[in-house]
Amino acid sequence: MQLVFATNNPHKITEIRKVMSDLHFSDSNDNMQILSLNDIHCLEEIPETQETIEANASQKSFYVYDNYGYNCFADDTGLEIEALNGRPGVYSARYAGAERNFEKNMDKALEELEGKSNRKARFRTVISLIIEGKEYLFEGIVNGVIIKEKKGAMGFGYDPIFLPDGFNQTFAEMDLKTKNRISHRARATVAMIRFLQGY
Ligand code: IMP
Repeated sequence: MQLVFATNNPHKITEIRKVMSDLHFSDSNDNMQILSLNDIHCLEEIPETQETIEANASQKSFYVYDNYGYNCFADDTGLEIEALNGRPGVYSARYAGAERNFEKNMDKALEELEGKSNRKARFRTVISLIIEGKEYLFEGIVNGVIIKEKKGAMGFGYDPIFLPDGFNQTFAEMDLKTKNRISHRARATVAMIRFLQGY
């Protein structure tokens, strides 16, 4: 089976190949080959205009399936902060504006949390997988808290302010191997691969 990963982020392609090989489900075997958007000559920007994480993931995967005819999957992630009624959620990338600035996004979240004692938050990833026109959804969640000041220089997005439950380092202080073992994205990816292993 050939499966397109509908993302323009090369790190995500590397990451999924790593998870697949850890689960002994290598994309070098004859049964499964992961293709990038480049591989299928899909060079345009894929629309991502929906109001939920699920709907955005579906929009991206159906776009590729409908326009290019490949089985494929797409992911979408949001940071959901309890005291902010789940914000920034689906708007995580552009929380402080269209420029998608990580620092400004974090500053906005920290400002909105000022004076609030409930700092609980979670990252949630949804993967939409389309096989022969049928959709399967997978979810991965990591729970944690938003700390008061940024800590750490690794990672991206909200990593410096997110402290996962059970750890004493933020995602931005953690080595990538540890983050990738417990992350929302890794958990959703593992759920999808387990499904594909039994498909
Ligand atoms: P995407 O759906 O993977 O593009 O993620 C949307 C946004 O969520 C990103 O632009 C980041 O702001 C945030 N985000 C997603 N995954 C992570 C993560 O692992 N760490 C920190 N922020 C993340």
